[in-house]
Amino acid sequence: MAHPSYDRQRHALVDLLREKGIADERVLEAIAAVPRHEFVDEALRHRAYKDEALPIGLKQTISQPFTVAYQTSLLEVQPGHRILEIGTGSGYQAAILCELGARVLSIERHEPLLKRTRDLLKDLGYRVLARHGDGTLGWPASAPFDGIVVTAGGAVVPDPLLEQLRAPDADRPGGRLIIPIGEADKQIMLRITRTGPDSFEREELMDCLFVPLIADH
Ligand code: SAH
Repeated sequence: MAHPSYDRQRHALVDLLREKGIADERVLEAIAAVPRHEFVDEALRHRAYKDEALPIGLKQTISQPFTVAYQTSLLEVQPGHRILEIGTGSGYQAAILCELGARVLSIERHEPLLKRTRDLLKDLGYRVLARHGDGTLGWPASAPFDGIVVTAGGAVVPDPLLEQLRAPDADRPGGRLIIPIGEADKQIMLRITRTGPDSFEREELMDCLFVPLIADH
């Protein structure tokens, strides 16, 4: 029997994510648009549209589609938003943010992985400004951000990321930081919204599991 096309598998994945509680239709459309099989090794392509994390080399993973959809929903991305991603990895999350019309910046600490992913994003037509470095320091020269999404789990919320969230003004709410925080084997998803120059609102959301966020400093 012939394999269903990647297209059909991708739409089945969208249906599954909807069943699992992802309600933001724009996020689901982005999942339906991004060819996830291009972001994994050829040998793993048959599993690209299952709702699971997959290895991408260097002990790193492409996040589970549910997790990507969930973190993206929490960001509440609007076209034109400037979004910083920590942990470029495969580039899949960055591509999803591009589909939503965001201006995407991303930081990755593994240089070989970054180089590979930069080429892939470019080949697929996704414009992402990606650089090598320690994402826990943020990207001060390009701040403030409407949203920051951390795709690796750490023990504490890095202060530079809080400082680089945009403060609210008359037209727009403040920037949001989506970050998994906890131990190596279990984290909780936090959303921290800047509510003023020195004030933040912190929401503790669902349990999750990420590869470790490694700070160089
Ligand atoms: N967003 C990625 C998920 C990759 S896994 C995707 O869609 O595929 C998390 C990534 O974070 C790994 O590639 C890891 O190397 C990177 N990482 C871990 N600590 C980091 C840090 N301090 N700064 C930047 N990247 C980091």
